[in-house]
Amino acid sequence: MNRIVSGIVWVTLYLVIIMVPLFLMLIPPVPTGRSFLLEFSVALGFVGLTQIAVQFILISRFKAFSAPYGIDIILHFHRQIALVAIGLILLHPILIIVDTPSRIKLLNPLGGNWASKSAWISTFCLVGLAVTSLFRKELRLNYEWWRLIHIILGVGAVVFAQIHVTMAGLYTNTLWKHAVWAVPAVFLVALILFMRVLRPALFPGNTWKVAEVRPEEGDCVTLVLEPDGHAGMSFLPGQFAWITLGERRFTMQENPFSMMSSANRPQRLEFGIKEVGDFTGSLRDVAPGTRARIDGPHGAFSIDRYPAVGYVFIAGGIGITPMLSFLNTMADRRDPRPIALFYADKSLDAMPYQEELEKLGDQLDLELTLVPENPPEDWEGESGMIDWDMLERHVPKELIQRELFICGPPPMISALHGTLKEMGVHEEHIHLELFDLV
Ligand SMILES: Cc1cc2nc3c(=O)[nH]c(=O)nc-3n(C[C@H](O)[C@H](O)[C@H](O)COP(=O)(O)OP(=O)(O)OC[C@H]3O[C@@H](n4cnc5c(N)ncnc54)[C@H](O)[C@@H]3O)c2cc1C
Repeated sequence: MNRIVSGIVWVTLYLVIIMVPLFLMLIPPVPTGRSFLLEFSVALGFVGLTQIAVQFILISRFKAFSAPYGIDIILHFHRQIALVAIGLILLHPILIIVDTPSRIKLLNPLGGNWASKSAWISTFCLVGLAVTSLFRKELRLNYEWWRLIHIILGVGAVVFAQIHVTMAGLYTNTLWKHAVWAVPAVFLVALILFMRVLRPALFPGNTWKVAEVRPEEGDCVTLVLEPDGHAGMSFLPGQFAWITLGERRFTMQENPFSMMSSANRPQRLEFGIKEVGDFTGSLRDVAPGTRARIDGPHGAFSIDRYPAVGYVFIAGGIGITPMLSFLNTMADRRDPRPIALFYADKSLDAMPYQEELEKLGDQLDLELTLVPENPPEDWEGESGMIDWDMLERHVPKELIQRELFICGPPPMISALHGTLKEMGVHEEHIHLELFDLV
């Protein structure tokens, strides 16, 4: 199924699911004699709550749901849709007050009945979710704390919203209607707690051990993992995995990294990691033999999903890692297809894995273009920012019309994405990987 058709199918399915409460509202017995605005506000609340509940499935990391697009795209969708849902839920009390201004007293969090108090707590959790996610960096919340807060607030939002729905009782006026709301809510809360907290601790799956940690140019290290008593992990070139190091069973620390090694070698995973913070900055001290856990493979950024007569790869900084996985895999497969790789960073010294790329150039039909932003004085190659003219200088026009893979810092990705679209490259042929899920 092509991407547009499958996109339409998934969006339609999503819309049908979030509309289910509206159909349920129509099944008698229904409250009568209420204004349209009041009914509309209730409908918005139900749709918003269903959207929040569906979020739990989106982030559960079930491969069946994420495979068509990749978990990274699903997480971006999760972010956008959460804001829509929160907007709808906030409109619910606003419209109630517009309809009946005397109901403004419901806004007193200490007054009112438990139906309104639980609505308050749920809304507080939702607003907390939005603020901590949109301003995580400004609030200096480290990623692990943010994730813990995110799970607690998410569960709190659904549980208290469910209490509100049950106690308000208007459209849950029969036992089966109560059940229709309560059962999925309990199931989804249990699902997310199991998938994201209990399962990794109780059923860690195959374990791995650190075989090697190698320092590289440009404040990077190569982390090599080998299976501990199993056959390894099959993956597509370019995919990524969440890595946890150490013995602790309950930990919120797991960081995503793209495999850099060949997909033909599932029993030796190599990761190229830039030292940017707590976890990545501590890797040099990790001893060989340290236990590792892997949640993967994830992601849809892979040449194997998009067969073509040739490829253009564009990497900014550590965005070179999935490209190395493409190249290592193609070399192992003796793949003869032509590849143009543009590799950009601030300076040549900041660019790790140049030697590996040269060696791969001997085995593949690879044209490698290094693009330092600040080149040395005697540099005769390309420099500055990658733009359309630079692409055209190195790649035959018809190859630009083929599959393009871009991975790098967000400003570079959005600039190149815009340029490629302006120049008529079809969206279907452009594949992007952002190393930023939050
Ligand atoms: C799909 C994907 C693939 C990636 N592949 C690579 C790679 O091959 N090589 C590489 O060097 N980096 C890669 N990254 C980025 C890498 O995950 C972060 O740099 C790393 O997790 C930072 O952790 P830290 O504790 O050292 O730094 P921190 O200072 O804690 O984090 C720096 C930033 O990294 C991000 N980050 C931190 N922890 C996580 C987490 N658990 N999940 C998601 N994002 C997080 C946050 O945006 C955070 O602000 C990838 C990221 C993603 C999303």
